[in-house]
Amino acid sequence: MTTTQAPAPDELAALRQRYDLERERRVRPDGARQYLGTDAEFGYYAADPYAGEPAGREALHDTVDVAVIGGGFGGILAGARMRQQGVERVRIVEAGGDFGGTWYWNRYPGIHCDIESHVYLPMLDETGYVPEWKYSPGEEIRRHAMRIAQKYDLYTDALFSTAVTSLTWDAASETWIVATDRGDAFHATYVVTATGTLTEPKLPGIPGIETFRGHTFHTSRWDYAYTGGTPDGGLTGLAGKRVGIVGTGATGVQVIPMLAEDAEHVYVFQRTPSSVDVRGNRRTTAEDIGADQDGWARERRENFLRIVSGETADRDLVADGWTASAGLLEKLLPSFRREGQGPAFEAAYEVADAAKMNELRTRVERSVTDPGTAEKLKPWYRYACKRPTFSDKYYPAFNRDNVSLVDTADTHGIERVTEHGVVVGSDTYELDCLIFATGFSVGVSGVHSGKLPVHGRDGTQLLHAMAQEGPRSLHGFTSNNFPNLIRMGSLHNASSVNFTHVLDEQAVHAAALVAAAEAGDALLEPSRASEDAWISVMAKDAPDHEWFHAGCTPGYYNREGLGRPNSPSAYPHGAVAFHELLKQWREESVDEVLRPRTVHRDSTVTPDGNGS
Ligand code: NDP
Repeated sequence: MTTTQAPAPDELAALRQRYDLERERRVRPDGARQYLGTDAEFGYYAADPYAGEPAGREALHDTVDVAVIGGGFGGILAGARMRQQGVERVRIVEAGGDFGGTWYWNRYPGIHCDIESHVYLPMLDETGYVPEWKYSPGEEIRRHAMRIAQKYDLYTDALFSTAVTSLTWDAASETWIVATDRGDAFHATYVVTATGTLTEPKLPGIPGIETFRGHTFHTSRWDYAYTGGTPDGGLTGLAGKRVGIVGTGATGVQVIPMLAEDAEHVYVFQRTPSSVDVRGNRRTTAEDIGADQDGWARERRENFLRIVSGETADRDLVADGWTASAGLLEKLLPSFRREGQGPAFEAAYEVADAAKMNELRTRVERSVTDPGTAEKLKPWYRYACKRPTFSDKYYPAFNRDNVSLVDTADTHGIERVTEHGVVVGSDTYELDCLIFATGFSVGVSGVHSGKLPVHGRDGTQLLHAMAQEGPRSLHGFTSNNFPNLIRMGSLHNASSVNFTHVLDEQAVHAAALVAAAEAGDALLEPSRASEDAWISVMAKDAPDHEWFHAGCTPGYYNREGLGRPNSPSAYPHGAVAFHELLKQWREESVDEVLRPRTVHRDSTVTPDGNGS
């Protein structure tokens, strides 16, 4: 996992000191409270710039077999896997104007997937599609989401520009009543929630932010009407404009080089620099990646998952920055698999980490000609403290005369926004346009945000129950008192940097649960004893990463410096082992989650469902 010379012990001690210092510069007492949501007063930052005003339609009061909340990859895959089980009426409800989720909302210039497309894009074997680039542009990914939705006929019953406002279990019909902001109140035998984790854009709570009179928007709602151009560039509307951008995370790193090409001047307001590794994007052919073999995509993504989950693999098919640094990811992933923790391992781990970060800091020096700017761009923290990023265009952008880096670490970010620009220390920057690449309220969406109340048996409110007893579930999918409700996401489940892989395994499982319930004329509802058993499995070998995150610069991985990992509790033995466990459970123990119905009904699964 190391690529440069191992640092000597005195160098390691100096690094530790430097990391502490850089962390102290950034920790704020207000933690996550420093941010503003994009509702109420700031709702215009979250409005849909792509769909326009939704067309009027009749409110729906009918009954479907499965309602899926969310039309991103999670929801689409749930729909597709339900179809493969022969489920007829699948209705996906989506707030955006089409399918795509993250890739619907995020269309900023320069957007690319930072995971290899051949493992990130799901259902490549099933659709026959072979991505054209090693790292796909966002539009290719969005089109692929639509391709899957078309192939599995998910458009027919879909509701777009529609937000679900509540889910209520109706004991009389043993169905869910799905209410929406468009006046719908339809019934669904099963509900799958696939509401994502990076859906609510957030803004920094900078004093005066509401007073800015220039143009302003969040990167996840790119305003091409103002900037001109497309995600490929050509932002002609920015000619002659002074553009400020706040945020240098994975999004900022992709956007900034594109802004630099067309704006008169770009001011990059940085608080913490990202680590930016080599990208090496290139066109690929089917032969390059062995896409002429049956099952090639499954094999490739399983190989990638093994490597980035810390499992052994006989070869590395993707061979990129993620797989090369896989050993350093384990503090980032709640479900990384590693045997033999102990001081010797931790010491070796720290050395490898320092070597990698030295390599990345050297990369900055080699790429940025102004030494002062290069110094400010160097990341001083351990590799897994922040999401690693990859770009071959980011550092060279700072060699342009029209790009200025403004370091705001000492002032904890921009101090004030005025009508005409921003203030940092004694300097005022006059701007025509201020863009926020400030990310999302992580994990605060759907059922976890409070915006989607879920009322189960006897009116039990899901969030309320979670607040009282902590989260309870069997495998993260189903919970007692919430029959026929299947939740997708990382909580009590597994995670990976290649999240679409995890989502697809979840979708396969969700569809198998529905098929089992239909076959047994049963409800899906685990007992409390099943939940207890699952909770103790997760608690037993849960990794303790708190000490690691306590030493990290603030960010959403450590609750803005509070020192606790922000990851939900998850299966402790890694995604690969979790998927094996689920498969075996489906084959041997699915009855554990089936309860007799009191209201009998015809099966939703057609006899020709192939059950694949
Ligand atoms: P992030 O939350 O990662 O980054 C937000 C940025 O805004 C940080 O640089 C943060 O600085 C900065 N910031 C926040 N408040 C202020 C302030 N007051 N003053 C100055 N700077 C401020 O958001 P992103 O949109 O970049 O990424 C979100 C996630 O989306 C990523 O982690 C990744 O998981 C995903 N993503 C994935 C991509 C892919 O290709 N798969 C591409 C893009 C994003 P600080 O670090 O100091 O808090």
